[in-house]
Amino acid sequence: MKVVLKNLTKRFPNHKKNAPDVVAVDHFNFEIPDGKLIGLLGPSGCGKSTTLNLICGLLKPSEGSIYFGEEDVTNLAPEHRGVGMVFQSYALYPHLTVRQNIIFPLENLKGAQKLTKEEMAKKALQAAKLVQIEELMDRKPAELSGGQQQRVAIARALVKTPKVLLLDEPLSNLDARLRLQTREEIRRIQKETKLTTIFVTHDQEEAMSISDYIVVMKDGILQQIGKPQDVYDDPANLFVAKFLGTPPINLFHGKVTDGMLYIGMEPVLAVSGVENQAVTVGIRPEGFVPDEEGPLSCTLKNVEVMGRDVSVVSTHEFMIGAGIRSIIDADVKIDVAKSTVRFRLKPHKVLLFSTDTEKRIPFTTQVSHA
Ligand code: ATP
Repeated sequence: MKVVLKNLTKRFPNHKKNAPDVVAVDHFNFEIPDGKLIGLLGPSGCGKSTTLNLICGLLKPSEGSIYFGEEDVTNLAPEHRGVGMVFQSYALYPHLTVRQNIIFPLENLKGAQKLTKEEMAKKALQAAKLVQIEELMDRKPAELSGGQQQRVAIARALVKTPKVLLLDEPLSNLDARLRLQTREEIRRIQKETKLTTIFVTHDQEEAMSISDYIVVMKDGILQQIGKPQDVYDDPANLFVAKFLGTPPINLFHGKVTDGMLYIGMEPVLAVSGVENQAVTVGIRPEGFVPDEEGPLSCTLKNVEVMGRDVSVVSTHEFMIGAGIRSIIDADVKIDVAKSTVRFRLKPHKVLLFSTDTEKRIPFTTQVSHA
């Protein structure tokens, strides 16, 4: 089931006197293709939960509409939308067993949808099998680990065979190892059920690793939507570039003069199609190649061995932020006794941004002389 948002807007009254409304979601227009997993991603307060609550019907939009397939569901009550929802707090009933928790949404079905006890038990077992908790059906939530409780919550969301599955920060209460395991599990379940799934997180790595598409948001405004790798490689603006990637992108004050990009006095890359101007230069950690003849000269601070890769920490007079972190192949030896390290740059890992608007400035590279 595809989900289409048209001009979707949600304003909340501001609690401060005479202050303008808070625009939590500002004219969203996008389509979530059938059967895909979408990661809604952005910092706290950017409007992720509001978007999810609008889609499931817990909130009414101030403007705009929501379609499930061709059907306009904007004014449909949540229980008639056919969405399954999983929250950060698993919200399981503590006095009920796992089986009873999963069955719970089926008990209120009325009319033609009403199920017999046997049918409900069968559906609950199917959902439990999907998330691999069928052995735990007679336990109470307190007798389960956090990861197992989250699986019960997912089974409960799946038991009514929803058209759309919504997950609001479903992994935040789990420890690091379990987060990793559970996110893979969510991906497996999503692929198996082929359910259109919307997954909210503020963790870019989490969103990048399991999503077919990511939607990056800031202050209620959609910044960019695309496949994770495409958004990483081709961010629309400085915010998106900074938000994606660990370690984060390295930033420098730079300028373009007559087709040459300078960081300080150093001509670091030939760039075509850019007017002469001051720019913010972003270089991904994997964009630095140690080279004694390289044009970018940095002060070497530290070399951290991480097994397959080496992380080189350095500084530069024109950097923005605390330090430069470059990731290089462990086979490349860096002389830690030296006080400087020189790099040449991989052109496709260098991004330019307007210092005024923070928008991306496209350029083409001539043959890299560096
Ligand atoms: P988080 O990651 O912290 O959960 P979020 O991205 O999910 O954040 P939302 O909860 O959607 O963000 O909130 C978006 C904005 O709307 C915030 O500025 C928030 O303060 C505001 N907001 C949310 N709910 C209300 C409300 N009921 N009344 C007033 N403002 C609200």
